Amino acid sequence: MSEDCIFCSIVAGDIPGRIVDENDDAIAFLDANPMAPGHTLVVPKAHHVRVADMSAEESRALFDLVHELAPRIEDAVDADAHTIAVNDGPDAGQEVPHVHVHVVPRFADDGGGPIHGVAGTPPSLSDDELDDIAESISG
Ligand code: 5GP
Ligand code: ZN
Repeated sequence: MSEDCIFCSIVAGDIPGRIVDENDDAIAFLDANPMAPGHTLVVPKAHHVRVADMSAEESRALFDLVHELAPRIEDAVDADAHTIAVNDGPDAGQEVPHVHVHVVPRFADDGGGPIHGVAGTPPSLSDDELDDIAESISG
């Protein structure tokens, strides 16, 4: 637990949160400023800032809870779909430095868009550049 972390305080029960479910390593609660009805945050119970900071086990537990909850959230608010996303690092828009998966219910007429819009202007990459990037990632 990090003393000055708002999500650690919710996990510990020190501040109220509308908790909707949990498993051994992850817990889910409603976002306080929802982008849509049912907007839920799924977080590891332990304090980790970035996705890669979690253990593989914690990471699995986190997505297990997302997987468990997504259809229940969709049913609860009669949504048509979901956007499921993580702002992983401040330059990606992460404001709370405790990993959290946003599960945002989407509706056919909500006026939103796909996740393709989040990264700014798309780069124009040659086949060679794409090959180099794939090689760097695969190691
Ligand atoms: P981020 O930009 O870090 O990906 O998103 C942080 C999210 O946490 C925002 O959607 C914001 O509404 C939510 N949030 C911030 N403070 C609180 C809080 O005290 N309680 C809850 N339930 N959500 C919060
Ligand atoms: Zn924390």
